Order: sequence, then structure tokens, then C-alpha cells
Amino acid sequence: MKAGKIEAPGRIALGSAEIPQVGADDVLIQVRAAGICGTDIHILKGEYEAKYPLIPGHEFSGVVAGVGERVTRYKVGDRVTADPNIPCNRCPACQRNEPNQCHNLAAVGVTRDGAFAEFVTVPESSVFHIGNMSFAAAALVEPLACVAWGLERLRVLPGASVLIFGAGPMGCLLAQALRYSGASKVVAVDIVPHRLALVAELGATATVVGDDHQTTRLRAIEPNGFDLVVDATGIPQVLQDAFQYLRPRGTLWVFGVTPNDARVSFLPYEVFRKDLTVIGSFAVNRTFQASIALIEGGIVQVEPLISHSLPIEDIAKGFELAQFDPGRMKVQFQITP
Ligand SMILES: [Zn+2]
Ligand SMILES: [Zn+2]
Repeated sequence: MKAGKIEAPGRIALGSAEIPQVGADDVLIQVRAAGICGTDIHILKGEYEAKYPLIPGHEFSGVVAGVGERVTRYKVGDRVTADPNIPCNRCPACQRNEPNQCHNLAAVGVTRDGAFAEFVTVPESSVFHIGNMSFAAAALVEPLACVAWGLERLRVLPGASVLIFGAGPMGCLLAQALRYSGASKVVAVDIVPHRLALVAELGATATVVGDDHQTTRLRAIEPNGFDLVVDATGIPQVLQDAFQYLRPRGTLWVFGVTPNDARVSFLPYEVFRKDLTVIGSFAVNRTFQASIALIEGGIVQVEPLISHSLPIEDIAKGFELAQFDPGRMKVQFQITP
């Protein structure tokens, strides 16, 4: 089969690979759509917890092409997506019902081969039906499930004022989900004007261009600071600066993925004095059903986030776009049978 592969950090290219073996509990999925995530860029650069050589790709959808002998809930032809995170269900974290913190967490497209290929296998326990949703939309269930997990960890106060740094695909998902969670103000900051236009269309109540004057503008919108500030950029400096926009008792949500060795400094006294909360949310934690429901219920629009839809043959070009094209939003590969 055709597959986009990272042999070692730094380069991705189309190659060929064996169609994966289907274990007794596995579902073989013929991939139809797969999106590039910021995490994939970190994986390409060697800044994440990945194993190489690797076929990346963890946001995907497709059609069931085969099932193992113990699989009961799926049959060939079913339209599906899959949670890429595969907990062991045996370790102390899994026993505490914290599967995203599993000590032996495997992840499709990170620690095992992923979906930038014609076929991928995942255990039945990770597979979800997608109803009539398009394959392109279903390949955005995973990033929205990451948002849903963060929302479960947070308490969004009724009428909250929210500031989001980054109006890329994640910022746009966050803006919609937070608005529907009861936020009265959702302000998005980005350096790319057309991203701001999109996030405003999708649910942000105000947008601010990220530049030297952003602080003045943000203070004008919320003089006493925001209830919730979310970083969806993964840029350490943005995260460091974010503290200043919190109101006392405010929450900083560390959502964007920074390089895994990045450091920021903050004033512990400020965290103490203002009763601040800093909260992280890692990946997905049994939030796929919620994410599918948010899309099916029309609460969150995902298709407007797709800026590029490329054949898998353009794998290298797709990664170029995803890293360097300021105009891009979600870059997806359409993989036709
Ligand atoms: Zn991702
Ligand atoms: Zn575990």
C-alpha cells in the first residue's frame, strides 16, 4: 500500500508499506480522509514521544475493510473513525479510569503506524461509527475530542469571558465549543487576518490581531481580565504572556502543544495572590462520542476549517503547507481506494 513515512526525524516521503496485519480484536480501516495536526509537525521534527520509522496520521476516517475474529460491532463497509489513543486497561492509571494517562499508552500515528496510508488497523474498542457525516468532517472528530476532554476538566462559568490565543483549526473548534458552553465573550487573537475572519464567522464575539498593540486592545475589551485564557498556539512566549490577561480567580488552559523541552517563566506570587488556576488537558479521554455528538448536533462546524484537501501522493507538500503556509488551516489528505 501507499504510505507517507518518516524514516527518521526531519523528512517525510511517500513510500510503500505492507498492509497491516489484522489481529483478533482489530479493525482494518481503509483510510478516506486524514488530517495533519500540529503534533504531526512535532513528530516530524523529533520533538514528541514518537517511535521511528513511523507512518504518522492520527486524525482520520474511513471504511472498514476487514475485521478480526473477535470483533462483533463492525463489519466490512461500515463508515468509521477511531480514537488513536490505545490504553492498556491494566496499569494503575487505567485502573483509576484515567486512560489518557495510561503508563503504556499506545497511539496510532505516534507509537504505532498511523493513517497517512491506504490502510490502518486499530482495536475494535477504539472504533466509532460516524453516521452520515462526511469523511472529511469525521477526520476532525479527534481534534474536537481533545477540546471536549479539556471542557470536561474545566468549569466554564455561565457567561464567562474567554480569550483564545490562536485561531487555527484548534482555535476555531475551541471558540465554537466554548461559546456553546455558556461563554458570553469569546475573543480570539491571531496574526493571520483571514483566520480571524473565519473564527468570527464561527462564533468568536471579537477578534484582535496579534501584534505590539494587542495588550491595549485586550484591556479595552476586558479591563479586569478574562475568566479563561486558552493557549492554542503552543508557542512558549504566548503562554508566558497569557498570565497577564487573567482576572483574579481566572484559569489558564494549556491546550497547545509546545516543544516537549520548552520552558516558560511565571510569577508564583501572582498565581498565589490572584487565586489562579493553570490546567492542562492531554489528548482525548473517552470523549469521542461527545465529539461526534457535537458535530452531528450542529453545535460545532468542522468542514469550514479544511483549507487544503490533497492526494496522499502530495504528502511532502502537505507537510510543507502545514508548517510554512500562513494561509492554511487544516490540511487533509483524501485517500481514494
Ligand atoms: Zn492531533
Ligand atoms: Zn494503562
